[in-house]
Amino acid sequence: MFELAGHNGLGRNVVLNKMFFEHKSAKEMSDNINSKTSPKNWDRVIMHVDMDAFFAAIEIRNDPSLKGKPVIVGGPADKRGVVSACSYEAREFGVHSGMPMARAQRLCPDGVIIGGSLEMYGHVSTQMIKILLDYTPLVEPVSVDEAFLDVTGSMKIWSEPLSHAPLRLARDLKKRIKENLDLTCSVGVGQSRIIAKMASKLEKPDGLTILSRKRYRELFAQKPVSVLWGVGEKTAHALNRMKIITVADLIEFPADQLIKRMGKSAIWLKTIAKGDDTGKVHALDHLPDEKSISHETTFAKDSTDLEYLRTTLLALSVKVARRLRRSEFLAKTVSLKVRSDSFKTITRDKTLSQPTDDQTIIFKTAFSLLPEEFRGKVPVRLLGVKADSLVKRNDLTQLSLFTHGPDSHNQSMSKLNKTIDSIKERFGDSSVKPGTLIR
Ligand SMILES: [Mg+2]
Repeated sequence: MFELAGHNGLGRNVVLNKMFFEHKSAKEMSDNINSKTSPKNWDRVIMHVDMDAFFAAIEIRNDPSLKGKPVIVGGPADKRGVVSACSYEAREFGVHSGMPMARAQRLCPDGVIIGGSLEMYGHVSTQMIKILLDYTPLVEPVSVDEAFLDVTGSMKIWSEPLSHAPLRLARDLKKRIKENLDLTCSVGVGQSRIIAKMASKLEKPDGLTILSRKRYRELFAQKPVSVLWGVGEKTAHALNRMKIITVADLIEFPADQLIKRMGKSAIWLKTIAKGDDTGKVHALDHLPDEKSISHETTFAKDSTDLEYLRTTLLALSVKVARRLRRSEFLAKTVSLKVRSDSFKTITRDKTLSQPTDDQTIIFKTAFSLLPEEFRGKVPVRLLGVKADSLVKRNDLTQLSLFTHGPDSHNQSMSKLNKTIDSIKERFGDSSVKPGTLIR
């Protein structure tokens, strides 16, 4: 769940706010909705709910003496920790998530640094999702602190007039989150996920922004392509080299040429530029703190020792597998995260031929994903293993009984693993380890 670090681009939000900030009162906003771009005529109403400074806000809520202070959540600087969230006060010093803690401390010497508790954040995240589920069954968490909602089917309940339905629903949702969790969130509303996602950050914190497709295009057309969701530095550079500077340039650039230069991502780029992705919001089948299971570790000293990396990956895989079994999940995808000494981070994943909770399969898959350059050449700073695309064990067993019959090898492996888990639970983690972990 610490993948959150950096991804909500907190530093960038501040810049965005400055670029776009035309603050509208709620009254003005609802007046604006009466235009011809009224949500009444939308084919879909998608919301993006994004908690404000989530981890830091939870810490401040739990300890009001932190209010108004620069709060920084993340790993300790002497263990080369990274900022995973920070309060808006800390952001004013230039601190943002994903930044090494040591740097954050230099920028903001009076910052209150908190180690944080992923378990607690996961718990609050689940509470948040439960509230969202009261508005629609179509809730898809994007990370621990944000989710998409397809509320098209809920509009009638919030009508009178229908054009104001999204606004009324969003206001109610924000109020419920505030009352129940004592936290604020920012909500973006649009006809597609991309519009909703881009809208939610326009008026952070505690924002509520409704954007028609027309308004989305007006608002972003002359902005640099880097403002778009998912367009990182590298992609922006590649586009700039093709003289695509603004979002409008991207829209106008001939599709066939873009495909030639950018491959498959060309289509996605065109889609986000126009704001018309047709991607659905998928109903979740389990709560977000169980959406994926991952463990990662930052080394005290960078390593090029392949055997050491191997052993670390195995240890991480054992932990992941054990949590999968405890929560009765099987993973369809295994992913590896590796960070170099120069902070270059690579994640690779692989879909398995059969879902699994077996540490050997998870380890072998993760190890096979380790890029050549990290096998003894580039020093490794961090390694992580993640089990993703989880399915409930029961759902699958029923399915395979119908299709292939029980897989006897997998079943005996899984029995063995369960026995090992129960021994570990009684005697502690170090009692049973796969061969290579015993040194
Ligand atoms: Mg957030």
